Amino acid sequence: MVDGGGDGRPPSVDALARSISDVALPHPLLIDAARAAIAAGDPASARSRALELHVRLLRPVVNATGILLHTNLGRAPLSFHRDAARYSNLELDLATGRRGSRHERVATLMARAAGAEAALVVNNGAAAVLLCLAATAAGRSVVVSRGELVEIGGGFRIPEVMASSGARLVEVGTTNRTRISDYSAALAGGEDVAALLKVHQSNYRIVGFTETVEVGPLSRLGPPVIYDLGSGLLDRTVPWLKGGPPRWLAGEPAVRQSLEQGAALVTFSGDKLFGGPQSGIIAGRFDLVAACARHPLARALRPGVLILDALQETALAYLRREGAAIPFWRMATTPVEDLRARAEEIVAKTSAAAGVVECASLAGAGSLPGLEIESAGVALEGDLAAALRCADPPVIARVHDGLTVCDLRSVDPSDDLVVASALSAAGERA
Ligand SMILES: *Cc1c(COP(=O)(O)O)cnc(C)c1O
Repeated sequence: MVDGGGDGRPPSVDALARSISDVALPHPLLIDAARAAIAAGDPASARSRALELHVRLLRPVVNATGILLHTNLGRAPLSFHRDAARYSNLELDLATGRRGSRHERVATLMARAAGAEAALVVNNGAAAVLLCLAATAAGRSVVVSRGELVEIGGGFRIPEVMASSGARLVEVGTTNRTRISDYSAALAGGEDVAALLKVHQSNYRIVGFTETVEVGPLSRLGPPVIYDLGSGLLDRTVPWLKGGPPRWLAGEPAVRQSLEQGAALVTFSGDKLFGGPQSGIIAGRFDLVAACARHPLARALRPGVLILDALQETALAYLRREGAAIPFWRMATTPVEDLRARAEEIVAKTSAAAGVVECASLAGAGSLPGLEIESAGVALEGDLAAALRCADPPVIARVHDGLTVCDLRSVDPSDDLVVASALSAAGERA
């Protein structure tokens, strides 16, 4: 504790900042904490203010929520390390020594993995939809079913994205039922229709008296079909998994099959069921992908080298059919007996009174709503979420019915000891 020298005056900002220099923050941020503490008439709070700032910095956490693609926790985890201190051949063709394209190499791998003529990578799924519409339909009409005018979250609403792309929205059908005749009536209505947009109901379900039109019949109407798949399952037959499609994938539509059925372009996120870094992928017809790449927005939406590198790694894993090399797929398909065995080990290593519990994990990020993956975890009485967040690295758990649960499906086995010691520490504090 620093005071003004015993005469009751507040300490100087600088002296106070120096007195908390053990908090691992740059000096200007310690100054901010000291200044705020003095302004609040509580110089002693400088340290806790600095620690609060420190805790807010971006850092790795252990995801024990069982939600594999948690948007708050960065969606898909990556098992990828890059020597970022080195330069890369981002826009250099090593064969010729001439300028190359940052887009081409990863996009080619993505297209190959998806069975598409061509592909383009942008910053996220929202950017992919925006660019497709802007490049293929600005100033013209795009037909969408009223059942697919969705909000994805984070402010992504189809009518608004459509408006910003410069395309005109033509709504057809109703919330629960849209027929092929609704689309053909719109086409016959004299509108200058550039495309038909289909949006996957990725984060909600319409059940009961419903009817939608599949990509196949839609694509036979004439205009190109743009299919915003969002969740990015690459292939329904999941050739990268040994055991075939898991039950929880249910009827999730996939990129390869949508293209086979006639979609001209599909868009999806790189960090949902694809299991890669945050990115958006446009895949499909060569001429339409080229139009997207030529559009001025493509330059504004282009990804950086860290993303392209991680995406390349993920695409190569798919092409090698190595689902286990993709953390999302490895975690999603770990047998529940393995999780139970790990939970027992953790309970044995936890000093607090913990127990093994059955859990239900979720894909998350608006993918596969309502579909649960059988799982196992460790539970402790009471709400220990805040105490677990204080662990290093922080452990993010779920609190349910008066129990704090660490679902192990979303925890890498190398973090099991972290979970055990965080539970022990939290249990002692409680
Ligand atoms: C998630 C999603 C998006 C947005 O993708 P981001 O990568 O989050 O920008 C768009 N459309 C659908 C159908 C989605 O599921």
